[in-house]
Formats: sequence, C-alpha cells, structure tokens
Amino acid sequence: MTFLPSTLAPPSLFKDLLVEPEEARSILRPQKDERYGFGFALSPYRGCGHGCRYCYVREYPNALHKPGEWGQWVAPKMNAPELLWSQRHKLHDARVFMASATDPYQPLERQYRLTRRCLEVLLLCPTTEVIVHTRSPLVLQDLDLLRAFGDRLAVGLSIPTDDDTVRQVVEPHAPAIPSRWAAAERLAAGGISVTIAVAPLLAVHDAKAFARRAKASGAANAWVGGLRLLKEDPFYKVLADHGWLKILNPDYKEGIREAFQETFPAKKRMREARPRSSPAAVAVPTPQPGLPGLFDRVG
Ligand code: SF4
Repeated sequence: MTFLPSTLAPPSLFKDLLVEPEEARSILRPQKDERYGFGFALSPYRGCGHGCRYCYVREYPNALHKPGEWGQWVAPKMNAPELLWSQRHKLHDARVFMASATDPYQPLERQYRLTRRCLEVLLLCPTTEVIVHTRSPLVLQDLDLLRAFGDRLAVGLSIPTDDDTVRQVVEPHAPAIPSRWAAAERLAAGGISVTIAVAPLLAVHDAKAFARRAKASGAANAWVGGLRLLKEDPFYKVLADHGWLKILNPDYKEGIREAFQETFPAKKRMREARPRSSPAAVAVPTPQPGLPGLFDRVG
C-alpha cells in the first residue's frame, strides 16, 4: 500500500468548529484490561464535534489543553492511515475498537475520510477484527466497505434514550435518534452485525417499547451501560435541572436492563456484537455485572 505524503492545513473553521489538522505520534492505544473486549482503541480524530455534554473524554489530559469547550474543536490525525499501516504487525489476531475517544463518523469524516482510510488498512489485515462504534448514520457512507469485512466487523450504534427531546439537551450536536434507528436498520439489512448500545443510559420514556424498537431494527445485540460522573461534574446540574437524576439510580438502570434482557436472548447480550463466525483465537469476554463499561466512569 502506498500513501501520498500528507500535508498539514492550517487551522480552519468548519461551521462553528475549530479544525486543527495534526500529525499523530501514535494511533493504536493498547487496552490491557480484557474486560473491555478489545486489544486496541483507534481514534482517527482528537476531539469530537458531537460534543455530548456528559462525554468522559472531555476530561482526558489531551482534551484539556485545547482552546474552547469540548465539542468546539477537533484535530483530525492526518497521518492516521499511514501510522496504522506502519503498525499493522501488531494487529495479528487482534480486535480494534473505533473509537473510544471520539466518534469515527462525526461530521468531519464526510470531508476527511480518515476513518474510511483506516478501515481500508484494517481490511488488509486478515486476522484483525473491528468494532466500529458511532452515534451517526454517516457510517452508511461506508456500507460497502464495512460489508467487505464479512464476519470480521460489527457496528455498535449508541442510542442512549428513546426520546429525542432528551437527546437534544444532552447530545445537541449528535444526530437525531430516529436517524440512528434508520441507520441500524440499513446496516442490519446490509448484513452487518449491529449492536444497540443504550449507553450511557439517559432518561427513557418506555423501556419495553424501547427494547422492542431495538429488536425491530434488526440489531443482533443490545446492552445497557450506566453513566457515572465525578463528584463535581457539571453534568449533575443538567440532570437536576431536567429532573433526570433518576438515571444515576442503580434500580433505574436495572429496570431498563431487564426490559432489554426480555427482548434479547441472554446469549446475545454482549457488550458489543461478536462477529458471527470469528476465528476462535479471538475470544470475547462476556460482560459481568459490576464491571466497568466503556461509558462507565469510576466516580
Ligand atoms: S460522540 Fe462519543 S466521543 Fe463524541 S462527544 Fe459524544 S460521547 Fe464523546
């Protein structure tokens, strides 16, 4: 595979977003805790234009030094595909999660195509499995590429509430909930293994109808992950102002989880979809109650 030399454009504005292209020094972040179910996290962008108000990444050290609020800047890692290609020897029998610190299909991906180009590299790594996790129907622009992975790839769609008015408050720059359902349906109809991630769990209107909607989308799996915040987290005020503090109550989470357990058979309820006939060498640990999830933070 050959790459054209990347050139760094100066910072620019994309709508109200400050875009600062950068050369990354690393691209594969090892995840040593097997409970997460993947070996490497891969983020083609630093920062995230979705700017979810609860996002745990906003407190990461590499997010703090940037000017402006979380969600107002993004640094595309212009050399991500080249770096990934140079690191491909690490990926034998590995599982890659895209992405734990950004949304790989945030709006800039329409222009920068870094996620797509990283996927093109991963496609050439025949023993590597991939989990793409997003909130955006923009993932559909790569449907043909995703299908080319066959059973080596699964897509997780985060749909943390059944109520788009909740989404408008909490994830104001992320795509509307109905558009995510439509994306799940098209992915599943296209033969992609889809997991609905009710994570981090937000206020839910009707848990049973929510679970039935997930099932009707054609998703193979679903899971529910709670939100944990730091003591001084300003998101507490958002929850309090809207009467949503109940989502921090373990009983509330358990009630939603039970609705999903009734709808999705137990053996299907995994943290992320397992490729349908994955090589036995890559085992997916079944999540255990009380263990941290991608969206759980220890407060
Ligand atoms: S989409 Fe994910 S990474 Fe982006 S702001 Fe929301 S929670 Fe954070």
